[in-house]
Amino acid sequence: MRIGLTTFAARSVAVVALAGTAALGGCASASSVTVQQEQQVGADYSRQINAQLPLVRDAASNDYINELGKRIARVADPRGIPYTFYIVNSDVVNAFSIPGGYVYVNRGLIERASNASELAGVLGHEIAHVVDRHSINQMAKAQNANNLLGVLGTVLLGRASPVVQQGAQVAVQVGGSAIFAGFSRADERQADHDGVIFETRAGYNPRGMVTMFQKLVTEEQNSPGRLSQFFATHPGAQERITNVQAEINATPAARATNLTTDTRPFQSFRSRLRTLTPYPSDRK
Ligand SMILES: [Zn+2]
Repeated sequence: MRIGLTTFAARSVAVVALAGTAALGGCASASSVTVQQEQQVGADYSRQINAQLPLVRDAASNDYINELGKRIARVADPRGIPYTFYIVNSDVVNAFSIPGGYVYVNRGLIERASNASELAGVLGHEIAHVVDRHSINQMAKAQNANNLLGVLGTVLLGRASPVVQQGAQVAVQVGGSAIFAGFSRADERQADHDGVIFETRAGYNPRGMVTMFQKLVTEEQNSPGRLSQFFATHPGAQERITNVQAEINATPAARATNLTTDTRPFQSFRSRLRTLTPYPSDRK
């Protein structure tokens, strides 16, 4: 539903990767980052995140979310880059994606999904952030001659700089307290819009995006504060629900009756996830 890591330190980690491949020359513009560079940024960044987040390691669970996610990514990203999907073992409700096709969904969000189309809606939205290059654009803008030089020095010397250490701390918080600086409202709108298209194209009912969002809004209303982290990074939830609903109403393909709402594999996946190791104590 949300996301893209866009805090300063998070960007800095990615700049480490960019520095290795991008020419030194002041600010990089978004368009100057090639697909290959984006993939390298994502791979490096993902390695750092994976080393610190409590990921679900269960093979069957990972197979399921990758199968579902890749089915959507295949019809969403014209660049044909490979995507990888991870389950973060955290009961905090959230999801995020980083450049290059890496998508993370917290267990707390998956467990609140009632059917496959609701999870597919979350994945469609996150994939849209990658396809639309929202976070790589922000990272490219964040670069400047100073930090690029400093980071390049770090890469050449092969030792961790304060920048890298700072990035590491932020990554840990992704699973714990889910601190994000959100995308712009325009980026979120675009990801919602494209998410509907991608989910529909993959054969899933985009109403899942609406019902998932409504459910979270209702839970927050009934138990104020429980999803405060999610709503802090997702302003305008009601408006987004209205927009997505309007798009579905205006799109014949999105209203087709043969779209999938739920599947048996999804229900098995969710049940299995519940039997796995309990949440780490990430609410402090
Ligand atoms: Zn988003």
